[in-house]
Amino acid sequence: MNQLTYLDIHTHRRDLHPDSVSVGCLSPEELISQQTPTAFTSAGIHPWWLEDYTKEEIENLKQHILNLVDQKKLWAIGETGLDRAYPEFFEDQKALFHWHLDLAEKHQLPLVIHSVRSGSDFLHIIKDHSPSTPWIFHDFRGNENLMKDILRLHPDSYFSFGMSLDNSPQIRELLPLIPLGHIFLETDDQKHLDIHDIHLRAAEQLRMDVDFLKSQIWLNFKKISPLSQN
Ligand SMILES: [Zn+2]
Repeated sequence: MNQLTYLDIHTHRRDLHPDSVSVGCLSPEELISQQTPTAFTSAGIHPWWLEDYTKEEIENLKQHILNLVDQKKLWAIGETGLDRAYPEFFEDQKALFHWHLDLAEKHQLPLVIHSVRSGSDFLHIIKDHSPSTPWIFHDFRGNENLMKDILRLHPDSYFSFGMSLDNSPQIRELLPLIPLGHIFLETDDQKHLDIHDIHLRAAEQLRMDVDFLKSQIWLNFKKISPLSQN
């Protein structure tokens, strides 16, 4: 992979800059039509979808994920996760997360995680299940202690940032405290964000050259890429 390009580890957008390579997270429509429009693909059932889809529809979406896994079209499983801002679905979210966790373990694929106020839930899950594949906490909003606890319990964990580098002073302060080998950058679903700008902002915060940051992020990506796609 050309190390001069920008890596976007998690995006729902398809209007990406030509100088970037992305891990596109499939929408329900893309999942059903089995489209994989980006260089790398992740697929999972977002916890919010529990509100929008019936149990049958969720089962159907799971089947589509399994089909893509069987065809070896996925770079990662997710995004999936736990969102305590939606407490009424929390038990279903947990069951669904465990389905994704088992799938990632079975096929040895990275897991892209959505976590809202659920850091301690994930610490328990890590303790109970000792995951063996990389976990990428996208749009990580935890503090330094949570970051360190996660890395201590599951050293193959990564933290990805996008919008928060613009709007969260706490996250800007956290960024330099994270080991460089555990950082990714992303646009997620933010239409106004440009992956170039996010790299610039992160490099500024880390006090390093943006090309050095780009090459480090590619190293991280190669380190955790499934062997078949390395
Ligand atoms: Zn997302």
